[in-house]
Amino acid sequence: MGRQFTNRVLVTGGCGFIGSHVCERLIEGGADVLCVDNFFTGSRANVEELLAHPRFELLRHDVTMPLYVEVDQIFNLACPASPVHYQFDPVKTTRTSVQGAINVLGLAKRLKINVLQASTSEVYGDPSVHPQTEDYWGNVNPIGPRSCYDEGKRCAEALFFDYRRQHQTAIKVARIFNTYGPRTHPSDGRVVSSFIVQSLLDADITVYGDGSQTRSFCYVDDTVAALLRLMDSPFDVTGPINVGNPNEISMRDLAELIIDLTGSSSRIVYRPLPQDDPCRRRPDISRANEQLGWSPRIGLKEGLLKTINHFNELLMRPSLRSDIGALYEGNHV
Ligand code: NAD
Ligand code: UDP
Ligand code: UDP
Repeated sequence: MGRQFTNRVLVTGGCGFIGSHVCERLIEGGADVLCVDNFFTGSRANVEELLAHPRFELLRHDVTMPLYVEVDQIFNLACPASPVHYQFDPVKTTRTSVQGAINVLGLAKRLKINVLQASTSEVYGDPSVHPQTEDYWGNVNPIGPRSCYDEGKRCAEALFFDYRRQHQTAIKVARIFNTYGPRTHPSDGRVVSSFIVQSLLDADITVYGDGSQTRSFCYVDDTVAALLRLMDSPFDVTGPINVGNPNEISMRDLAELIIDLTGSSSRIVYRPLPQDDPCRRRPDISRANEQLGWSPRIGLKEGLLKTINHFNELLMRPSLRSDIGALYEGNHV
């Protein structure tokens, strides 16, 4: 009997929110997964159910250091994604994006394999084109508090396209828009998880600014489906390609929707708008539709209900409830 070929896939940032879902889908699809993470914002708990799986391997490693392994595909997701976490050590954030990109590209070049970059809608900055199409070059403050993330990701995109031009590396660049779902870190300040936890604790819901700024939220299963399709697309499909759900909503409406879905008695309080917070964001996903045959399937209400269930279960664990509750102390009605 001939040996069966299994695809061995490297997932950097595999213990994070999106990464852990990517690892899960890959294992379900029969691949071998090498998950690499430095546990800055991710944790073993996120891949708990995979740890005993014979095709799953976890390596504690920082992507700013070279990595010599033998794999067939690379998903490069390593990078803190929430403003609170990426601004904690901004120099490290830039190094992770830039040096991390050089290392995975060097690896992909040596092995002649596909490498996918988790880029972001933040490359558009505070956009003056709406909705955002991939040919829009963006409006980014190069020296502001978000620039470590925005410019780091922009430089990573430039590196990906230079490796393609210089070395014919098989690159795939996904510009991911706000993604939510189970396993977002409850304390990383991202809006969906924050509003849900605040609602479940009947704490004040903190809307920044007047809440008129918009985002378009994509449920994690939809985002991951797009990333897997992009990875398996032909050599000429390089991206950049927007991955998101065009369903745009203001933060005030989001707060009201979450209060409604949780039946919470929380009230909305208004806090200062962080510097350079984009006013509007909505992806044009025609390219993903045409080139990948992909569009999101899970509506906002359905996805929020799944996410609410997840945080409800987390909060039922007494130790977690008190840890998470402490984050919102002084925030109670
Ligand atoms: P996350 O913070 O949950 O996951 C990031 C993971 O990368 C964590 O497990 C973290 O420990 C790991 N990591 C960070 N620095 C590292 C380093 N130097 N070496 C090794 N591992 C490192 O964030 P996420 O939401 O899962 O985002 C994953 C990727 O998707 C990121 O690259 C992010 O920029 C991108 N993205 C996410 C969103 C979103 O809405 N969630 C939107 C756009 C882009
Ligand atoms: N690299 C790596 N693993 C590999 C090959 C390369 O981590 O299997 C890193 C290595 O640190 C190198 C970087 O990727 O500096 C870029 O590699 P490339 O071959 O493009 O350039 P080099 O710097 O080796 O000339
Ligand atoms: N936001 C908010 N209250 C919070 C956290 C965030 O009103 O407790 C707002 C934030 O100002 C931004 C939007 O929600 O306008 C999305 O923020 P997030 O940090 O989730 O993502 P990003 O700004 O990176 O899109």
